[in-house]
Amino acid sequence: TSEDVATPSKTKEILKRHDLVLKKSLGQNFLIDHNILHKIVSAAELGPDKGALEIGPGIGALTQQLAKLAGRVLAIEIDQRLLPILGETLEPYPHATVVHGDVLKLDLPELFRQHFAGVDGVSVVANLPYYITTPIIMKLLEEKLPLENIVVMIQKEVADRMAARPGTKDYGSLSIAVQFHCEAELVTIVPRTVFVPQPNVDSAVIRLRVRKTPPVEVADEAFFFEVVQASFVQRRKTIYNNLAARFFTKETKSELETLLLANNIDPQRRGETLSMEEYARLSSALLARGC
Ligand code: SAM
Repeated sequence: TSEDVATPSKTKEILKRHDLVLKKSLGQNFLIDHNILHKIVSAAELGPDKGALEIGPGIGALTQQLAKLAGRVLAIEIDQRLLPILGETLEPYPHATVVHGDVLKLDLPELFRQHFAGVDGVSVVANLPYYITTPIIMKLLEEKLPLENIVVMIQKEVADRMAARPGTKDYGSLSIAVQFHCEAELVTIVPRTVFVPQPNVDSAVIRLRVRKTPPVEVADEAFFFEVVQASFVQRRKTIYNNLAARFFTKETKSELETLLLANNIDPQRRGETLSMEEYARLSSALLARGC
């Protein structure tokens, strides 16, 4: 519609009128392409009963499209200079609220209580600031917010790692952390030309469907992730070497070999070949042994 900001000319006009120089340090690359916005919001499966949480609304390109579909929109923006602009671009959408703050410091469960009471499911939809992609995703997952989908534009390289399957070069602790909490799916690859200014990495949109229950049973989630982390400390080393360095001494090391074999895991394999089921089995066995 006429008030949409996501065109090259409208975005440039707004930035000029407000004398705004974008900050690279805040990951400010704004979307100027309607087709990409459409792909992002469609992947989020919004509706009048749903809520959308946006991280980093910028001048409101995505926020406007979210507000057209969702019953409630909450957008968190760190850059105070953008607040008056958002006031303008979101003027037609009173059910969209902007909160000023750093997403990594805000109390998200409290914001959910304040803004999404009575809403039938909330999804995070955002073109994330790339310098903090992983900390943001990990915060959303670890705080166990009641989320349906997380649909985000991120660096393609990070999207590939999040969605990677065992035995591939991209598979690592991030893949396991994300896939423990979500089903990950690449929605589309995005050219640099849809941003102002253009970022110097390739981008992709990824959808994470948040799981109601984890795909594997683990007795102690923190310990499970500790074992996963330890297994990738030195990527080129075997699972035996990485785990021995973290959980065993010279004297007790031989027990590890027995434990791996008893759990059907060849000690010579590398961490990147183990499935989530194998990590679950392995962490239970290490926990039972008192590691
Ligand atoms: N959503 C807009 C778009 O698609 O055009 C802007 C996306 S831009 C990639 C990222 C936005 O996140 C910027 O507006 C930036 O100011 C904001 N931002 C950066 N760090 C943030 C933080 N820690 N908390 C909240 N917002 C942040």
